[in-house]
Amino acid sequence: MKQYNVGIIGATGMVGQRFATILENHPWFNVKVLAASARSAGKTYKEAVGDRWAMPVPMPKTMENIIIMDAEADIEKIAGMVDFVFCAVNLTKEETKKLEEKYAKAECPVVSNNSANRHTPDVPMVIPEINADHIKIIDAQRKRLGTKRGFVAVKSNCSLQSYVPALYPLDEEFGVEDVLVCTYQAISGAGKTFDTWPEMIDNVIPYIGGEEEKSEKEPLKIWGKVEGNEIIPATKPHFTAQCLRVAVTDGHMAAVFVRFKNKPSKEQILEKWESFKGKAQELDLPSAPKQFLYYFNEDNLPQTKLQRNLEGGMAISCGRLREDTQYDYKFVCLSHNTLRGAAGGAVLLAELLCAEGYMD
Ligand code: NAP
Repeated sequence: MKQYNVGIIGATGMVGQRFATILENHPWFNVKVLAASARSAGKTYKEAVGDRWAMPVPMPKTMENIIIMDAEADIEKIAGMVDFVFCAVNLTKEETKKLEEKYAKAECPVVSNNSANRHTPDVPMVIPEINADHIKIIDAQRKRLGTKRGFVAVKSNCSLQSYVPALYPLDEEFGVEDVLVCTYQAISGAGKTFDTWPEMIDNVIPYIGGEEEKSEKEPLKIWGKVEGNEIIPATKPHFTAQCLRVAVTDGHMAAVFVRFKNKPSKEQILEKWESFKGKAQELDLPSAPKQFLYYFNEDNLPQTKLQRNLEGGMAISCGRLREDTQYDYKFVCLSHNTLRGAAGGAVLLAELLCAEGYMD
């Protein structure tokens, strides 16, 4: 397989650190550029991160002495050094959108973790197992931007990456109508650890800014259709969400209630989950889990600590499927928020884009 030189924009942050660790031994991608704010630029990666390293494994030795570039001032230079960049920065929406478009216009594709471009109509927001076909909108985006290679592609918010994968395979045959979901989200989703956010020890905070809106709105774009120069969001299923921050390092759990047009049996749901495969599995992408959806029969599973790292943190764990008194069924599902939900999901999307020729 062809090799690609890549950059990590926001390399010093929580998601950036995840990118660094999962790209260390990637079979297709070689990290050539690490970039962050002007505060970090000019320092080595090790110096710039300092005591902020939050990964369970050490910083890759090969990256420790890479000099951090300035993500805003060095765009042209970076674009000349890499085939594409991953981006995860904590700027405002407007600043992020501007930054990502500048990279795209410098003919450097951007695979982004940021939310700024998620609802730009010609920017694909992709979970490769579900809506891989949305990447064809990139042709229209390139026309708008006036680029030959450059474009922006995004992954969705981390909270929905547990329940959307579980609901999507049920929709075609049974029609998913109404979904009520409560998410229990890890502190790494806020870029934090218990050291940097001690208030979270032994605590639950019933508010995550903007998260409930994202959890309700983003699935509709994923369910949407490419028409002409845009992705038209679906109008169904209807989602309502409550998102809570809980005292967990990594792993977002969701409690889901669902109503169908044609109510399936429990066995039919389990069969759909078991057999579901998407483009990521068909193309055998390096980061794709062999089995996307796992079901656990034990009443006390899945548990965040036990299942979050399943298949390298890229698989979704489901459990407790049972009938409900008001909806048709209820169940729980779990995904790793900084792997499947952030850096891992973006790496999988980049693999899809490479395999389909968009990075050449
Ligand atoms: P973070 O830990 O606060 O890291 C932010 C990164 O942005 C750092 O590398 C920082 O560099 C860089 N940065 C700040 N100002 C910059 C500037 N002016 N120019 C260039 N780079 C700048 O944040 P995070 O948790 O990694 O999140 C990053 C993005 O990913 C956010 O958009 C977030 O919403 C999204 N996201 C996060 C998660 C998650 O689970 N954490 C999941 C999905 C999506 P310095 O070190 O130099 O300040």
